[in-house]
Amino acid sequence: MRKIIHCGTLFSGAGTVAEASQSAVIEHGHFTYVGPRENAPVAGPGDIQYDYTDHFVMPGLSDLHVHLSYGNALGQEDIDLYASMEYRALRALAAAQRMLQSGYTALADPASAGGISAAVRDAQFVGMFPGPRITASGPAITSRLGLYDFYPSPIGVPAQSSGTLVKSLPEAIEEIRKQTKDGVDIIKIAMDGIYGNREQGLFAAFDQAETTAMVREAKRIGRKVAVHARGREGALYAARAGVDIIFHASRIDDEGIRAAKDNGCHICPSLMLLVNNIEFSQPDDPSASWWPDIQRQEFAAARRNLRRAYEAGVPLLVGSETGFAVSPYGEWAAKELQIMTEYLGIGTGEVLRMATCANRAMLRDGSQYDTIAPGKRADFIVVKGNPLQNIGVLQDRRNIVQVWMDGAQVQMPDLPAEIPRHQRELAQGMWSRLYTREAVAGLKLQSLTQYDGPSFSIDDQFPEASL
Ligand SMILES: [Zn+2]
Repeated sequence: MRKIIHCGTLFSGAGTVAEASQSAVIEHGHFTYVGPRENAPVAGPGDIQYDYTDHFVMPGLSDLHVHLSYGNALGQEDIDLYASMEYRALRALAAAQRMLQSGYTALADPASAGGISAAVRDAQFVGMFPGPRITASGPAITSRLGLYDFYPSPIGVPAQSSGTLVKSLPEAIEEIRKQTKDGVDIIKIAMDGIYGNREQGLFAAFDQAETTAMVREAKRIGRKVAVHARGREGALYAARAGVDIIFHASRIDDEGIRAAKDNGCHICPSLMLLVNNIEFSQPDDPSASWWPDIQRQEFAAARRNLRRAYEAGVPLLVGSETGFAVSPYGEWAAKELQIMTEYLGIGTGEVLRMATCANRAMLRDGSQYDTIAPGKRADFIVVKGNPLQNIGVLQDRRNIVQVWMDGAQVQMPDLPAEIPRHQRELAQGMWSRLYTREAVAGLKLQSLTQYDGPSFSIDDQFPEASL
């Protein structure tokens, strides 16, 4: 039995243009014919035909920067501390399915708490649950000066953080071997420090020799290496060491760009989080007084430097940094494509090629499903509207008419946009200001006795007990 797909417009992902009046034939989950409709095999008895002649057919979208274990976090503590690993794993499955419903048939999770993204990957791989193809990392490797070591030193990096602290190069090498044994596809290194000075910006979390040694070991045992590096120094060390992906690279300079080009590094800008942090900021956000301006500065630098890197021939990839409260699963990922066309000046067809074919070269078994072509696995989406004319159509889930994976239509109940939070996730600060006598003088005091809230069961006394 063959499935014959008739497409109004077909974008294969191999180039930057689409063809009209194409058909594709699927057998045993793989394409066996892709080309003009008039040359397509004629449907025989038992074959099923699908009429997408009013639609745009393209490879499923892929996103290299989705943090499945973050749970649409409201802040760093929310990522690191409160939800149990078991609850996070189940939540990560729902997150992955939200991405699939939005047209993402493949994604990478760079920096996952414990083995969560690998576990969700494996459960989906053996067919327990529908979901996108996942390329997994473990916790990001960091130093005493790096991201994820946010807390006072006596506390350190919590065991359930999406980062893991190494205190020496031998510990870093040991961690790379352990993660590889535990089944990660990508080693993630937090190259940005959290300290710096005005002249140089952030100091890198690792020096050049450490970076080079970690990358060499990861590659020796067949892992890809991705780094988080917004700062100039971190991006430079990573580029010299020949990592596969530099996330952000907002302040990469000419030396870094040259090293990235010479050593075959890719840059994944991940600008959506920056843009949303600015555009969605509200006066009552705890970070409102300082965060948006820092993001504006970085966005200005990133536009300039990433455009230069692109012009110099450094290949770019597409990742949104989904998983925070400003970038919930399945809501804004495709906005990254629009940002890359609008603010980096990259052509729509080129961005679409990056978000499909180029991204997949970085993903686990990506060459099996990177384009729509004979021999490839049939992962594709059917879109209402033409993303080459208006890349914004991909952001509206209602335009993703059908998702196909392995030659089958994906069927899933519609998940809510909000992934439920557990009541015990008491992550955030309780108050937004200091209630001095002066501050309270202008407030209307609330009733001590009137009670309209939800009634807690005896098992849910934790909130009260904690005070
Ligand atoms: Zn990230």
